Amino acid sequence: MIPKTKLTRRAAIKLGVGTTALTAVTSLWSSSLTARPLIDKGKVVVAGAGAFGGWTALWLLRKGFHVTMVDSFGPGNNQSSSGGETRLIRAFYDKQIYFDMTLRSIELWNEFDKSVGRPVFHQNGLLVFNHKPTTPETEAATPMYRKAGLTLEKISAADAAKRWPQIRTEDLDHVLYDPQAGYLEARQGCINVCEQFIKEGGTYIQQKVAKENRSSGKVTSVTLSDGRQIEADQFAFACGPWITRLFPSLTGKIHIHRGVVFFFASPPDKSEWLENKLPTWMDRDHDGPFRPFGVPGSAFRGFKVGLTPPGDNDITDRFDTYDRTVTTHEIELAQGVLKRRFPAMVGRPLIETRVCQYTDTPDSDFILDRHPEASNLWILGGDSGHGYKLGPAFGETSARTIAGETGVNRMFELKRLL
Ligand SMILES: Cc1cc2nc3c(=O)[nH]c(=O)nc-3n(C[C@H](O)[C@H](O)[C@H](O)COP(=O)(O)OP(=O)(O)OC[C@H]3O[C@@H](n4cnc5c(N)ncnc54)[C@H](O)[C@@H]3O)c2cc1C
Repeated sequence: MIPKTKLTRRAAIKLGVGTTALTAVTSLWSSSLTARPLIDKGKVVVAGAGAFGGWTALWLLRKGFHVTMVDSFGPGNNQSSSGGETRLIRAFYDKQIYFDMTLRSIELWNEFDKSVGRPVFHQNGLLVFNHKPTTPETEAATPMYRKAGLTLEKISAADAAKRWPQIRTEDLDHVLYDPQAGYLEARQGCINVCEQFIKEGGTYIQQKVAKENRSSGKVTSVTLSDGRQIEADQFAFACGPWITRLFPSLTGKIHIHRGVVFFFASPPDKSEWLENKLPTWMDRDHDGPFRPFGVPGSAFRGFKVGLTPPGDNDITDRFDTYDRTVTTHEIELAQGVLKRRFPAMVGRPLIETRVCQYTDTPDSDFILDRHPEASNLWILGGDSGHGYKLGPAFGETSARTIAGETGVNRMFELKRLL
């Protein structure tokens, strides 16, 4: 097993963190996930116990708020975007803020795993398959790694095939290797956060928030589907794709897109398909119809291949009502990935499939802002297919913003979409 790579305080300070959201983070360095002030900060309702809602609720609780977290189907439920088996965690980004948020989240996932004693973060590294000598993404990410003193190793296609003989690399220009990356057990991570939230005094209710009740520009309470009303001072909606159902004004501004995941049975007598022999991977063929990604053999689930089907896969009108079955064409696309990249896996039985969704904003940046019609109503979302890993840092920033300790980050403002 690769030893855990811990973000050192020196590396973090060396980052010279620029972005507003993260400046707060460095100053928060001293307060870890454990400290709880004694001051009563008032009541907050958080709707949604996925990656964004769960972490926001936990951070708000630890800031001294009385928090009630409500979820229709449960933390990490399999209708939610956080309900998958695994999610990649990687700092390989072309935007500084997500690079920084990932480093902060790696720190927090490590700390949280230790504190709850049921680790979900598996740091088995990431391979980025590049088809060209360079890409805008690689050009943007490489200096960030260098400045942070972190490894992003560039390996020729021939050498990569020697190091990882499981991979076919003839059509690649090179492979990038990031040992700090890995994967998270997604739905288990949401369950761990919710359990810790309850353990530390938070109130969790499994019900749907049917509507919010307003008076003079403020939300006064929410009504649950069982008729109960919950009053509070502030309300945060981290409802993933359902945000389009709760706030129809967002329809047309953000779109829900389909993502599909396949698990293939790895050869029974071959351990090289397991996570300690093969890192997670992303195939960055920018000219290709889709960019698959995967996780080898996590939690005895088999070999995961994930992809966003090409073409029109907008499911905004039906993501919560249609049958989540994969199409024959999507299976063929996944089998094509095996043929192209992992030839020894060709013909291996498909043992499980998952259909899920991304809540996409036009710029792939998140939403963390007040609703324009209610000053104490917060919208948290727009995950755009890359939010799970960032739950801890996004939750930290959301809690600080809701607590009034920092302003709304301009990149996450709602008005950019309206
Ligand atoms: C196939 C696929 C692969 C992905 N891979 C990665 C990856 O490798 N790395 C990564 O970082 N991210 C990845 N993502 C994205 C990641 O899963 C999301 O960014 C993240 O899960 C979003 O979390 P969320 O809390 O915003 O939404 P969700 O997880 O959808 O949570 C919203 C919650 O709100 C609840 N809810 C909705 N409406 C109501 C209501 N009215 N009342 C009460 N509760 C309500 C729901 O039950 C749900 O639990 C992937 C996503 C998909 C689909």
